[in-house]
Amino acid sequence: MRHGDPDDPLLRQVLPVVEEDRIVPGFELDAVGDGAARGATGLIHKYDGRALLIATGSCAVHCRYCFRRHFPYAEETAAANRWQSSLDYLRAEPTISEVLLSGGDPLSLATGKLAELTDALATLPQIRRLRLHTRLPVVLPERVDAPLLEWLSHLPWPVVVVAHANHPNEIDTAVAGAFAKLRGEGVTLLNQAVLLRGVNDDPDTLAALSERLLETGVLPYYLHQLDHVAGTAHFEVDDARALALLANLQARLPGYLVPKLVREVAGDTGKRPLA
Ligand SMILES: *Cc1c(COP(=O)(O)O)cnc(C)c1O
Ligand code: SF4
Repeated sequence: MRHGDPDDPLLRQVLPVVEEDRIVPGFELDAVGDGAARGATGLIHKYDGRALLIATGSCAVHCRYCFRRHFPYAEETAAANRWQSSLDYLRAEPTISEVLLSGGDPLSLATGKLAELTDALATLPQIRRLRLHTRLPVVLPERVDAPLLEWLSHLPWPVVVVAHANHPNEIDTAVAGAFAKLRGEGVTLLNQAVLLRGVNDDPDTLAALSERLLETGVLPYYLHQLDHVAGTAHFEVDDARALALLANLQARLPGYLVPKLVREVAGDTGKRPLA
């Protein structure tokens, strides 16, 4: 962050502002329908073949646009002794071949806790892939330490890490180093970003983000339209502008550097592409 600049694109993501208090119709508490898709305590089974485990409610940052801002983490984390019901659910659902560790941020758990969880998952024969959705390599690259790498190197499945950077300035040399270490363990690295007004809603920034990701060994995966969560309306970019931004990226970047522009729609069978 640039010191003293209230419009800094990194600061804007975490700075509480008075606009958040505005009540905007359509911006709700459970905007993505997680409540309805709850399969067990701490487990969200919305899409075929994949289940999301809320490994912990803790995060290293509090992004103001977070779609889980109002999620009842205290009751819904699968952490510690509460993993059992999620594991029972998975055991009874042989169609689930991929487990996503999410949160909160799964890497805010101690590595020993992660190992307990993956040891338990390893007893489920249907699991073929493990995915981690984490912002920690970006906001706390020191978390990618030797014990974490050691844990990754022993997992019995291909591992996909979906990082979360919204702006190229987030990827400094320390972050690039964390990405390189993850790749060194054979991890497939992807990035998801959220389209945010005043942060990354211009084509030069988005193109620079894709370029910087590739330089550091990461491919862009999703560019999310904002979930309509109460208190986040000031970040909204309307669909027409979002599509124009996407067209601009498509015109100037190779296809593999253009993220899929998607929105989460309650009840859908996957993320819904805008184009
Ligand atoms: C986004 C999401 C997934 C994964 O979707 P992909 O399109 O496979 O990345 C799985 N479960 C839930 C609940 C999700 O929100
Ligand atoms: S890192 Fe992800 S889960 Fe954590 S506050 Fe930010 S958007 Fe929410």
